[in-house]
Amino acid sequence: MSNAAAFASEAQALLGPRGFTCDPELLEPWLTDWRGRFTGKALGLASPASTEQVSQFVKLCAKHNVPVVPQGGNSGMVGGATPDKAGNSVLLSLRRMNQVRQFDVSGKQIIVDAGLVLQTLHEIVEAEHLRFPLTLGGKGSATIGGLISTNAGGTQVLRHGTMRAQVVGIEAVLADGQIFDALTALKKDNRGFDLKQLLIGSEGTLGIVTGATLKLAPAMADRVVAWVGLKSIHAARELLVKLETHLFDELEGFEVMPAHCLSSVLQHLPDARNPLEGDHAWHALLELAVSGNSAQSVRDQLEALLAEELEAQSIADAVIAANEKQAEDFWLLRDSVAPAEKEIGPAVQHDISVPVAKMPDFIETAGPALEARFPGTKSVSFGHLGDGNVHFHVLAPPGAVPGEWEDGEGKLISAMVYDLTSEWGGSISAEHGIGQMKIGELARLNDPVSLQLMRSVKLALDPQGILNPGKLVAV
Ligand SMILES: Cc1cc2nc3c(=O)[nH]c(=O)nc-3n(C[C@H](O)[C@H](O)[C@H](O)COP(=O)(O)OP(=O)(O)OC[C@H]3O[C@@H](n4cnc5c(N)ncnc54)[C@H](O)[C@@H]3O)c2cc1C
Repeated sequence: MSNAAAFASEAQALLGPRGFTCDPELLEPWLTDWRGRFTGKALGLASPASTEQVSQFVKLCAKHNVPVVPQGGNSGMVGGATPDKAGNSVLLSLRRMNQVRQFDVSGKQIIVDAGLVLQTLHEIVEAEHLRFPLTLGGKGSATIGGLISTNAGGTQVLRHGTMRAQVVGIEAVLADGQIFDALTALKKDNRGFDLKQLLIGSEGTLGIVTGATLKLAPAMADRVVAWVGLKSIHAARELLVKLETHLFDELEGFEVMPAHCLSSVLQHLPDARNPLEGDHAWHALLELAVSGNSAQSVRDQLEALLAEELEAQSIADAVIAANEKQAEDFWLLRDSVAPAEKEIGPAVQHDISVPVAKMPDFIETAGPALEARFPGTKSVSFGHLGDGNVHFHVLAPPGAVPGEWEDGEGKLISAMVYDLTSEWGGSISAEHGIGQMKIGELARLNDPVSLQLMRSVKLALDPQGILNPGKLVAV
């Protein structure tokens, strides 16, 4: 019996027919990332039902030297959950581990299996008038394990932080199968390194996250959502600074998009309408969260602030959503930018950050520089201005051949975007992670000391190199 056949037969004996399969038809949907940019091969798919089974399975993988590729909802953007083409690795899914283990409503904490889907978590906690204050477009498939492993962000980071700020306890299976149990949440704990933070954002390269204790917030009593037309990205930043000064405690989200994105969205959603009359170079969508019964006062404060800004001609136009339906319609426009841009044709996407105050200058400098160097391309930046993080997309010239263009000129464009981002003191990955997509660029551009530290940590925790090899950190 070959090594692979011996491994498969032991895996089947350990996990049972529901827990392990090598059936090519069942494996097929797991082998390509959702954007269709990466495809690999795997010798099997494991779906253990408990942390103990994950531990036993990883021990088996270590014994046979079989690489393990964890996959959650496969909504990641950088090919982190897709195996390589060698076909000697095994996919590990926690889809059968999707339960709530403990729910402390008064203490506002919940312990969940890592296979739980984000949207389901939202629904469970909302039923108890609480909320998990992190959301993103892929919430219907993204799992807690995937969100932790990518340190996901989303549209509420401005107020609540990334996944790092939501996780207060973690359980993970390490490369040798040991279970690291740090689920108990302690407000103060100074027993050395914060090992849970090491696992957060490690993209499955240091351990398999099997469970987490998450912090919850009180449900929003109400929200005030507004759409603002602006003449420049600088004007958007100035509005953000004003909001942070006067409505700091309420400001929950601040997203921007240029006119180009809004018109793509309006073409993509035939029933949607522009919230404002007239044309504006930039648009901002802002959300204020209201607690208790202060909705009218928050709305009045925002109305007064926007009226002042209009008077001073710092903003061009603004509308506050009259009701929840209109608020949802505004957010739908924002959430539809990525699919609408995708419909236009090939593009290369970069989720970058620079220091928040520098972002308007960066957009105004980097966009034209790229368009000049690569004639016919169009740069569009949209997203989380409040976090100094935009999705910096460069659209292909008309007539570019999909696939071919991304692999040719697209790669040169990405290298230039990352060079510029690094020159401006920024990050080549603000929230999507490194995966296999950016592993070369990280090695090229990151500080050598940071890279060496990451390699040392990887070698210490996974000396055999079986956890998600070829992703994030090159050893
Ligand atoms: C429409 C849309 C909008 C999005 N918007 C945002 C956004 O605003 N902000 C943002 O940050 N992301 C966004 N994303 C990206 C994506 O949703 C996040 O990266 C998410 O965290 C991935 O979760 P997942 O369960 O799908 O993980 P996967 O894609 O399956 O995996 C992601 C990585 O985590 C590893 N992994 C998965 N599960 C585990 C586990 N249990 N233990 C260890 N490693 C594991 C994988 O190996 C891989 O490296 C968006 C995606 C979509 C489709």
